[in-house]
Amino acid sequence: MFVGGVRPRCLENPLRRPPALLGALRAEVIPKADLLRLLRLVATSFGPGGAEENFSTGALLRRYGFSETFFTRFARPFFGGVLLDPELRTSAEVFLGYLRRFVTGRALLPAGGIGSLAEQLVSRIPRDMVRYDMRAEALQFAEGKVCGVRFANGVFLAGDEVILAVDEPAACRLLGSGRPRAALATAVHYFAADRPFYRGAWLCLPPRRETSPVLHAALVSNAAPSLAPRGAHLWSVTVLPGHPRATDAEWVRAEVASWFGEDPRSMRSLAFIEVPYAVPEQLPGFRRRPSPWGVLSPGVQVAGDANCGASIDAVMANGEEAAKKVISPGRLK
Ligand SMILES: Cc1cc2nc3c(=O)[nH]c(=O)nc-3n(C[C@H](O)[C@H](O)[C@H](O)COP(=O)(O)OP(=O)(O)OC[C@H]3O[C@@H](n4cnc5c(N)ncnc54)[C@H](O)[C@@H]3O)c2cc1C
Repeated sequence: MFVGGVRPRCLENPLRRPPALLGALRAEVIPKADLLRLLRLVATSFGPGGAEENFSTGALLRRYGFSETFFTRFARPFFGGVLLDPELRTSAEVFLGYLRRFVTGRALLPAGGIGSLAEQLVSRIPRDMVRYDMRAEALQFAEGKVCGVRFANGVFLAGDEVILAVDEPAACRLLGSGRPRAALATAVHYFAADRPFYRGAWLCLPPRRETSPVLHAALVSNAAPSLAPRGAHLWSVTVLPGHPRATDAEWVRAEVASWFGEDPRSMRSLAFIEVPYAVPEQLPGFRRRPSPWGVLSPGVQVAGDANCGASIDAVMANGEEAAKKVISPGRLK
């Protein structure tokens, strides 16, 4: 949903609801020529690919001839928010992967919040196999092979297979080698609202202005009502970390309320959360970069963002792959 103009206008996936294309053409929030370019780009995203990994997202969009209006109204607020990179420096290959998934799939929000994914995984293994609040401090080796992990609370857990599913800086620390990639940070304001300012599970995209820290926002309780605070509706407003107004909850709520002509006092600030290392930078060619830690010792694997593209589905597949290597029949004792 495009906001910040005269009135909010909606843009839906025309492959899911073909009449939406007519609406998009009529609304003219994205110039018609850019809509056609976008269709071409979607077709490209299903092609064999290859060259894209040498371009940044911004450079690829410019190659396709997208207008500055497209950058300001759609590319920076939407894909800048998805990639946590409003400058669009991220590899175009990552961007095309997301574009493909948005076109063919659906954006989902678990009713119990993102932590419910981990809870589902844990629910399938015996309780006593899971330990919480244990900070891994060092890997232990015997005769060149890993033999366990020492934790900050003094506990030592023996094991001849270790999968490091930690963030990249932690993986480098624990492996004692390599320099982590630079971080992409993010920051989110949460507000409780007396009433919903709009209906439906829409993401609100304001035109990207330098004066505003807001990238995008959503009434997330419209998509997952269970996330709402009692008797209220939940806003999640993603802002640009480091922007001079990023931490100013009053400014941010006034901006959001103004999109709908509402009174900002109907929004109550609940929390402001900053994540300094949200995902590692994924610049053009990042998949070809040599592994920061070189050759791993026998028995050690790295899984997650540090080892694959940064997204929830990529890290889940990567973690599963690592686990399968450990439990493959040939390796079971
Ligand atoms: C605000 C935000 C929104 C996002 N939204 C989306 C989205 O909508 N869709 C999407 O696909 N991706 C999204 N991402 C990205 C996604 O969350 C990551 O790609 C994914 O979580 C990475 O998984 P991971 O297992 O590699 O690392 P993490 O999820 O970061 O898990 C690593 C874990 O290791 C722990 N750890 C670190 N050091 C140690 C240590 N020494 N000992 C023990 N434990 C340690 C950390 O505490 C952490 O729990 C988002 C990220 C953020 C920050």
